[in-house]
Amino acid sequence: MWRMVLVVAVLASCRAPLWLGPETAVAWVPDAAMVRALRDTNDLCAGRVLSRPPVEWYVVPGGAFWSPAGEVLGYWTSDQRIYIASADTVYHWVLRHELLHASLGTGHPPVFRTCGVMP
Ligand SMILES: [Zn+2]
Repeated sequence: MWRMVLVVAVLASCRAPLWLGPETAVAWVPDAAMVRALRDTNDLCAGRVLSRPPVEWYVVPGGAFWSPAGEVLGYWTSDQRIYIASADTVYHWVLRHELLHASLGTGHPPVFRTCGVMP
């Protein structure tokens, strides 16, 4: 029995825990035309048509929140959830930053600077 528990514990520690987002996050449906325009802008600065995976949006009350990356204005998860601090939903660069993560499925390649969406 202990051996099985130990094996499970080792396997579980090999993977990053799934982050479920801040407890105060609430689902958000941003204006679809705005999101299209933000994605169009990302395509233009990237110089190519980027993928547009469906994204689940959440707003977190306040100007910033804690995430696995520390205190942030926005956060993207690889299962295509985007969290935005409520005070920052008006800052398109924050939204475009997280949409770039969703399109590229990765961290911060140089295109983030090219697109002017790095803090
Ligand atoms: Zn980022």
